[in-house]
Amino acid sequence: MLEWSDVDIAVRDAVREFVDKEIRPHVDALESGEMEPYPIIRKLFATFGITDMARDSLNKRLAKLRDGTSSSGSASGGGGMFGDGSGGMGFVVVSELCRVSMGIVTGMGVSLGLTVPTIMGRGTLAQQERWLPDLVTYDKIGAWAITEPDSGSDAFGGMKSYVVRDGEDYLLNGQKTFITNGPDADVVVVYAKLDEPGVDKRDRKVLTFVLDRGMEGFVQSKPFRKMGIHSSRTGELFFSNVRLGRDRLLGETEDSSGGDGRDSARSNFSAERIGVAAMSLGVIEECLRLCVDYAKSRTLWGQEIGQFQLIQLKLANMEVARMNVRNILFRVIESAEQGKPIPLPEASAIKWYCSQAATEVAMDAVQLFGGNGYMTEYRVEQLARDAKSLMIYAGSNEVQITHVARGLLSG
Ligand SMILES: Cc1cc2nc3c(=O)[nH]c(=O)nc-3n(C[C@H](O)[C@H](O)[C@H](O)COP(=O)(O)OP(=O)(O)OC[C@H]3O[C@@H](n4cnc5c(N)ncnc54)[C@H](O)[C@@H]3O)c2cc1C
Repeated sequence: MLEWSDVDIAVRDAVREFVDKEIRPHVDALESGEMEPYPIIRKLFATFGITDMARDSLNKRLAKLRDGTSSSGSASGGGGMFGDGSGGMGFVVVSELCRVSMGIVTGMGVSLGLTVPTIMGRGTLAQQERWLPDLVTYDKIGAWAITEPDSGSDAFGGMKSYVVRDGEDYLLNGQKTFITNGPDADVVVVYAKLDEPGVDKRDRKVLTFVLDRGMEGFVQSKPFRKMGIHSSRTGELFFSNVRLGRDRLLGETEDSSGGDGRDSARSNFSAERIGVAAMSLGVIEECLRLCVDYAKSRTLWGQEIGQFQLIQLKLANMEVARMNVRNILFRVIESAEQGKPIPLPEASAIKWYCSQAATEVAMDAVQLFGGNGYMTEYRVEQLARDAKSLMIYAGSNEVQITHVARGLLSG
């Protein structure tokens, strides 16, 4: 793949128009929290027919499960942020949105790209029928909770949230942190250790549950104040003796012969990491657009600053980053079209490289704008704050490096 297809370009132009009309004028309100991101996403979905496509795709999937022509345990048939077979279109939508509001994409990505596939991949037919119809259309907001205050990158080994069997039910206790959509989510996928006396705490089975907002003993915090992606709301979750019937345990069985919660979480890792490439592309393209304009309009010593070699170096570096990240995405799209999944070490390398490139480009953009770059009005400071988040979530970049190295050394 050497270029975006004509369809991709048509989608890009239509989304760009939507963004200019429906999002750009509200960026300050979204950033301050005065405006919630969810109605904008629902409007985007309605405008582009995504709601109907998602509903149809899910209905087909559920029909196949009901008549036994497909088995549960696979996220195909409606999985991914925009369903199967979206080719480059899903990436185009993501990168266009990230040019103005990465937070919107973060919240949407966690709900549609993590919560939905986890329930699709692990849930029984009844569980899929119960939670997915409202989630795939974004009528309900999903969250996906692994991280805890004392675990972080050591997500499974250090996990302290646990469930104890109580008759046919489980009682959940513990805490999660940094959870995207945590304050607002209607449906939350929660990973917790099974209390197994005699088994080392690090090695205990990880089970995956689905909780609904408002359950007794389940508290969702207010949003944290944070550095960037302000239009994505991030918070804590607290569980105090939350009673969970077996119908909330994904798969409704503790049998881990098909893998436990660790495998369920890992199955999302590649898609999540690759998604970061599309987000990075949006940041880089927007920085480049803003910087080229500024380099041609800001005049000092009687000439445009674009004539200074150190400014040209910044622009050239941005262009190389744009080409690299875009070419990586082309490879991802082509691999998907050929049915060849990107292996985890490569997905990790992609996430590491692209997030770092986006952050460096955005910081250079701030520098190129001088004092104006430090002012909110010129937008590059928001892009820099937003881009930095990509180096931390979806697995910190240091952890990605360990996965790249492990892939190389295990051969
Ligand atoms: C905006 C935002 C949204 C998030 N959304 C979610 C969400 O929806 N759901 C969820 O479950 N989590 C979410 N997270 C959590 C995120 O996945 C974690 O922050 C991330 O995995 C890092 O964990 P930590 O913050 O505890 O850092 P730590 O694990 O404490 O890491 C501290 C430092 O040590 C480094 N480090 C760790 N291990 C190694 C190693 N082996 N080698 C070298 N260096 C290492 C890290 O890279 C980092 O620099 C979110 C985080 C942010 C910032």
